[in-house]
Amino acid sequence: MSNGNDVNSIADHLELKILKKKLDELSSREEQTKNKIESINSVLLSSNSKEMLMDYPDLVSEYNLNDLSGLFLKYRLKGINDHLQSNLLKIQKSKYLVQKSLQEAKICPDCNGQGSIVKVRIERDADEMPLADQTVITCSNCEGKGVKTYSTNESEDGNF
Ligand SMILES: [Zn+2]
Repeated sequence: MSNGNDVNSIADHLELKILKKKLDELSSREEQTKNKIESINSVLLSSNSKEMLMDYPDLVSEYNLNDLSGLFLKYRLKGINDHLQSNLLKIQKSKYLVQKSLQEAKICPDCNGQGSIVKVRIERDADEMPLADQTVITCSNCEGKGVKTYSTNESEDGNF
């Protein structure tokens, strides 16, 4: 039966890593999108948008804003803003779902999600150098999964 368990623990561990990576990606995309929206808004609110735009060369090149001015520029910026706002909502929705999954798959406190624990034992001999003996053992708390999964059906005491 241990073979089946091993396969599961590797799969669980990978899934956890993928989720964490995804959360990082989503967070940085969220940050970038928010920054862009902020830049666009400050250009839109400025009395001289064309001049203000000079402060944001990245926006100009990304959205081809060079030849635009006046109302055309404002309309274009508003369009980009709407697009970014709807992107931001999608990103935040995905982020929420990933965070929820991560919360449901609770990281094992004993091994910090590693699934294994390194035990170091120093052996000293009277006339020899101390030897560090390292053993990697499977975490018993999570059985090497790195994750403590609790069924959501189980009633936990202390509702909040
Ligand atoms: Zn563990």
